[in-house]
Amino acid sequence: LFINKQETYEMNPLDMDITLTSLFSVLLAEDVLRYVIGAGGVYLVVNTVLGRKLAQRKIRDKNPPKGQIKREILSSLRTALIFAIVGFAIVFGTELGLFWLYFDVADYGLPYMAASTLLMIVLHDGYFYFSHRFLHRPKVFRAAHKLHHKSNNPTPFTAYAFNFGEAVANAGFLPLLLLVMPLHPLAIFIFTNHMILRNAMGHSGFELFPARRDGRPMFDWMTTVTHHDIHHAQAGYNFGLYFTWWDRLMGTEHPTYHDQFKAAIRYKGKVSSELPLAPLA
Ligand SMILES: [Zn+2]
Ligand SMILES: [Zn+2]
Repeated sequence: LFINKQETYEMNPLDMDITLTSLFSVLLAEDVLRYVIGAGGVYLVVNTVLGRKLAQRKIRDKNPPKGQIKREILSSLRTALIFAIVGFAIVFGTELGLFWLYFDVADYGLPYMAASTLLMIVLHDGYFYFSHRFLHRPKVFRAAHKLHHKSNNPTPFTAYAFNFGEAVANAGFLPLLLLVMPLHPLAIFIFTNHMILRNAMGHSGFELFPARRDGRPMFDWMTTVTHHDIHHAQAGYNFGLYFTWWDRLMGTEHPTYHDQFKAAIRYKGKVSSELPLAPLA
């Protein structure tokens, strides 16, 4: 995948050109496949194969309008293209010594590789939370986040349905992190696959997360599907991606979130909140 320095020196311009083209093709194929397999896989398993079994956990009564998935896939392919361009820039920036990508696991050891993968997820959650709140400023929203919210009732394919500006903002996380932190390609690979999986699940429209006996989410520190579904129904709340930490710290979690989670899992017990349930369109 990466250009061998010695090879580069020996290559004639034509070979060099072919190498760059094939490098970009590999990066583009990787980003497109990640979306197709990630979003398509979640759609196939959750919304199609298990659709009937999961009917008790369907968050909304209504189904997304016709034509929505087609629009989501088209805009998501543009996002994959932008991700591939940024990936290409990361390879070149690494060649120039700008980014801290390393290839030998032994350089920092296995514990560092595991810790850096987890840290990447935690840092991305914070980056996503604050950039997402910025995207919700009225002027910015119209220019860069409107398309994602056109899917009021999301599907797994909503995962990459971004305006150009939002795609660039999302893609910016990795090169920024590589300026300050050494990362192994395998750590990045695990991070990006976790990202698409959580992203596609969060837009699936079925509550996939386990619940405790009292109807609260088993892992309350993680964002459930209901958590992000509420964000699409009522945009002023629930900006987090993987964890509920930032929404709770900043006071932006929807006041009836836990009751809406109980409603999504058809919990038979009492609902605690006095507040009325927010209507899900
Ligand atoms: Zn969303
Ligand atoms: Zn939003």
